[in-house]
Amino acid sequence: MKISIIGAGLGGLSAAALLAAQGHDVELFEQNDHVGGKMQEFSVDGFRFDTGPSLLTMPFLLKEVFDRCGKKAADYLEWESVDPVCRYQYSDGVIFTNYRDPEKNRAELLRIAPEDVDAWDSFLDYSADLYRRTSGPYLFNPLQAMRDIRPSDLPDMLRIDAFSTVSSRVDDYFSSHRLRQLFKRFATYNGSSPFLAPATLNIIPYVELRLGGYYIRGGMYRLARALHNLARDCGVRVYTGTPVDLIVPDPSKKRSISGVMINGSLHEADVVVANSDATDTYLNLLPENALSGRKRKKIARTEPSCSGFVVMLGINRTYNQLEHHNIFFSDDYKDEFRAIFERRELPVEPTVYLTNTSRTDPEDAPPGCSNLYLLVNAPYTQNGQLWHEWTETYTDHIIHTLEDRGLDGLRESIVVREAITPADFERLYGSNKGSIYGTSSNNRTAAFARPRNKSPWFDNLYLCGGSTHPGGGIPLVLQSAMNVSSLMERNLT
Ligand SMILES: Cc1cc2nc3c(=O)[nH]c(=O)nc-3n(C[C@H](O)[C@H](O)[C@H](O)COP(=O)(O)OP(=O)(O)OC[C@H]3O[C@@H](n4cnc5c(N)ncnc54)[C@H](O)[C@@H]3O)c2cc1C
Repeated sequence: MKISIIGAGLGGLSAAALLAAQGHDVELFEQNDHVGGKMQEFSVDGFRFDTGPSLLTMPFLLKEVFDRCGKKAADYLEWESVDPVCRYQYSDGVIFTNYRDPEKNRAELLRIAPEDVDAWDSFLDYSADLYRRTSGPYLFNPLQAMRDIRPSDLPDMLRIDAFSTVSSRVDDYFSSHRLRQLFKRFATYNGSSPFLAPATLNIIPYVELRLGGYYIRGGMYRLARALHNLARDCGVRVYTGTPVDLIVPDPSKKRSISGVMINGSLHEADVVVANSDATDTYLNLLPENALSGRKRKKIARTEPSCSGFVVMLGINRTYNQLEHHNIFFSDDYKDEFRAIFERRELPVEPTVYLTNTSRTDPEDAPPGCSNLYLLVNAPYTQNGQLWHEWTETYTDHIIHTLEDRGLDGLRESIVVREAITPADFERLYGSNKGSIYGTSSNNRTAAFARPRNKSPWFDNLYLCGGSTHPGGGIPLVLQSAMNVSSLMERNLT
């Protein structure tokens, strides 16, 4: 079959490789000049920065993509765990270093939250249980048809803690405000607020802290390159700098797509796979009359995930206190999320995530220098925001916040300074309102109602990527691509 794929994000590249390995004739069209979508890198004056993801979890899914293509992941890239896992600094200056070694970690807990030493493991056991209940029935399941729900899974599906919030369940386990804040942060891994998202998202700490968090040697962008090489090795023809203008419904056949429109010409295909944002695909890439007004309104109403404000600083010094991953917590976490999701403002007192990959990969910065990548959770875009006016001021504010938290002399040491705003994420990758994880999971059902990997309205339109089922973030994006390949195989048999 002839398959056209729109977008060379991690989902599009993986789907392309998997479908070509199944024997299909696959072409992939990417509007930008580089593959990788939100996973990009930026190099200048001897500094290298990853501009998107910094943490790889569940690498077994990555290995599975390569296995299914008949290739070995190890021939394309290497990943390694980072220890310490993360350095957390609280607003009063107290520091907690999360080590992989349980004894060292326990010593840290005894120092900062002695009352919660045992709660750490009990919470991770609860988190592991949630993972066990959701992985088969939900995470690794396309959930496309009734037959995907096995009766034996039903008891588990009803016990996934969807009626509490992340925050209230964390409060049940921990009494120390430090560990409460630490465990609530994991909800942001899929762009949601811990005060609104269902407690089911408490599976994320298990994924990072027990299954492990990894870094890709040579930089995270190696993953995009590896998937690009895999796709080419499987026979995919990749066209960058080639925007798809329209997905064209077949006028002679209901529920069918005839191909994609590129530069005014119809490019016929038996199947179209959209790795473009699902909201953008349904509302902007299909002609307006392809879906009823009711469907379009429903899609438009879905709340996007939060976005991010990224700052990249090349500095002419090192800070011994920094680890690879670092968090500088704000004082009022609840207000930070109110700002992002209710007032839709940049937080006045932000929690700052800082990654310093030159600590692990010294080639990422000139000798004696560091490459600091800062990420603050930010609201998705809406009319009236003035990103071009705010960027410099807010970047200064983040730098000032870090100086206040002990990075003395940061401002004077800056030799490279760049920022990426929510408006940039929207413009560069077509992500709905600049969201970085597709839709938010800020209510009980949203996580389970993401757009499916096969369109319910067209028989030969499939969707993959972080805005679709099962969710945002590298591992789930890879899973969405595997769902597309399994569903297509199912359709053909
Ligand atoms: C700042 C930031 C930090 C993150 N941190 C992490 C992390 O640490 N760990 C993690 O697991 N995840 C993280 N993520 C999320 C992760 O990056 C994404 O979930 C993932 O990369 C999304 O992949 P995707 O397949 O959905 O494609 P996308 O990256 O959304 O790419 C879609 C592609 O489609 C192209 N496209 C769109 N429309 C068209 C069209 N009409 N024609 C042609 N091409 C088109 C776009 O240009 C783009 O290249 C982060 C994201 C960001 C932005």
